Amino acid sequence: VPVQATGDAPAPAATSRPIPAVLGADLQVPVKGGRLVGYANLDYAASAPCLEPVSAAVAAALPAYSSVHRGAGYASQLTTARYEQARHTVRAFVGARPDDAVIFTRNTTDATNLLAGCLPAGTTAVVFDTEHHASLLPWPTSVRLAPPAFPGEAVRAADEALAGVEGPKLLVVTAASNVTGELWPIAALAHIAHRHGARILVDAAQLVPHRQLNLTALDLDYVAFSGHKLYAPFGAGALIGRRDWLAEGEPYLKGGGAVRSVGDVVEWHDDPEPRHEAGTPNVLGAIALAAACDGLTATGWTALVREEERLLARLRSGLASIEGVRELSLWGDDHPRVGIVSFTVDGCSAREVAEVLSSEYGIGVRDGKFCAHPFVRHLLDATADEHERRSSAGESDPENSGCEDGTTAAVRASIGIGTTQEHVDRLIEALRDLVSR
Ligand code: PLP
Repeated sequence: VPVQATGDAPAPAATSRPIPAVLGADLQVPVKGGRLVGYANLDYAASAPCLEPVSAAVAAALPAYSSVHRGAGYASQLTTARYEQARHTVRAFVGARPDDAVIFTRNTTDATNLLAGCLPAGTTAVVFDTEHHASLLPWPTSVRLAPPAFPGEAVRAADEALAGVEGPKLLVVTAASNVTGELWPIAALAHIAHRHGARILVDAAQLVPHRQLNLTALDLDYVAFSGHKLYAPFGAGALIGRRDWLAEGEPYLKGGGAVRSVGDVVEWHDDPEPRHEAGTPNVLGAIALAAACDGLTATGWTALVREEERLLARLRSGLASIEGVRELSLWGDDHPRVGIVSFTVDGCSAREVAEVLSSEYGIGVRDGKFCAHPFVRHLLDATADEHERRSSAGESDPENSGCEDGTTAAVRASIGIGTTQEHVDRLIEALRDLVSR
C-alpha cells in the first residue's frame, strides 16, 4: 500500500470550468495611517471564504424553504428533495460506498464527537499527538502516540499500538495537518488498522478543500469535515462512514425526527441519518456545503491543485529566503503538503507578527497553537533543538532565536481559491520589512 496515496488520481473532468470566484475578493480594510488596502486573506485553514456558486445556491433555495421530511406542502417537499440531494452530493464528493451513512453535523468537531458517542463499549482510540483537538479529545479511552519522525514511522507506531490494544479499536488520523499542511499516509494507515481488526476515522477538515478524497478507494471507515473550511458558510459539516456503529449508538441529540414512535417506550430510528439528526436540521447549510462540493468538482482538481501548488511554492521559497523566519515541518521540506504553512520569526512573538501584518499591511493570518497544542509544542521544541545544534556546531544561524527564548506559538498562513500572487508577495515583503526592523 503506497504510503502517500490520498485517493484516486484526479481525472480532469471533460467539463472543467474556470476556478470560481469567492465573495469578499474586493474587500478593503483600514491600515495604519487610515489608508484602505485590499484585504489579503491568508487564513483559509481557519475558515475559507464563500464561493460565488455557493452563495447563488443558497439564494436560490431561500424563496421557497420550509421544514424538511414532515411537511406535505410543496415548499416542504422541495426543501426535502434539496436536502436529500445535498446528502447524495456529499456522498459522491468523498467517494463513499453506497451503503455508508452520510450525517449532516455542525462541523468536524461535532462529527468526531458524534462518532465518539457511538463507539462500541470498551473501544480504545489510537491517536497521534499531532491531531487537532477535535480529533484528539473526544475519545473516552485513548492511547496517544508521539509525533512520528517520518511517514513510515507513523505506520509502524500505529501497527505496534494497535497490536497492544484489546477489544474494539479505532485509529484516528488527520489527512492533512492544520499546522504544517503535510499529508498523512492514510491509505497505509487504513491498511494497518484493518489488519488489526480496527477501524479508521480520517479527519479530512484540511484535506477536502485542497485535494480529492476517495473513501472507497482508500478503504476508510469514517471521514469527517467542515463546510466552513470548504468555501461554504458556517454551521454545516459531515460525518460519513459505516452504518452499524452509528445505527446502534446513542442518538446524538434526543428529540423530534430521531424517533420512530414515542409511547411508554421510545423507539429510536436505527437508520443513522434520522437517528443523529434530531430537530430541524440546518438545511441551508447542507445546501451550501453541497454547492461547494459541486463547485470544486466542476472546476476539476487538476486546475485547483496546480494553482495552489504554484502559490504554495512561491510562499515557501519566499519564507525560506528571509533570515530568521523558520517554517515548522514534521517531515521535512520535500514532504507533500496542502496550502498551509506555519512559521516563527526570530525575536518576535507570533502575536506581534500577526498584529503588525494586519494593522500595517492588511494581511490576515492566524497566530497561536491552532487547537493542536501538543503538536505545535513539539514542532517549536524541535526547531529550538535544531537551532541549538547548529549554533553549537558553529554553523551560521541567526542569533536571538525566538524558539530558543521560549516561543510558545507560531504564525500560520494558509491559501486557497481566491488567493493571488500579490497576496503571497505582500506577505513576504511585509515579513522582510518586519525582520529588517
Ligand atoms: N480538524 C482539523 C484538522 C482542523 O483544522 C479543524 C479546524 O481548524 C478541525 C478539525 C475542527 O473543525 P471545526 O472547528 O469546524 O469543528
